Amino acid sequence: MTTDNQAPLHRNAEGKLDAIAFTGGYSIRYLCEEGETVCAECANEWTVDEYGTPEPIEAYIDWEGSGVHCAHCNKFLPSEYGDPDTIEA
Ligand SMILES: [Zn+2]
Repeated sequence: MTTDNQAPLHRNAEGKLDAIAFTGGYSIRYLCEEGETVCAECANEWTVDEYGTPEPIEAYIDWEGSGVHCAHCNKFLPSEYGDPDTIEA
């Protein structure tokens, strides 16, 4: 993962974290302080848990790669363009 996809957290008028980037319709993932990724749904429902885990700190778009699972609900979050190693040229 590169750092140039990352942006400060942005909350919309309802105080929610965006799930979809307003340009391009890309899915936004949220990065936690401990380096885990969570989906937007989990980021929005986040409360400091019993382990004292802080809320997500950064938003990013996963452009390319094998995707990740949400560290919270375990939903698979594919990258936008897939894994270049598995796409036929
Ligand atoms: Zn999730």
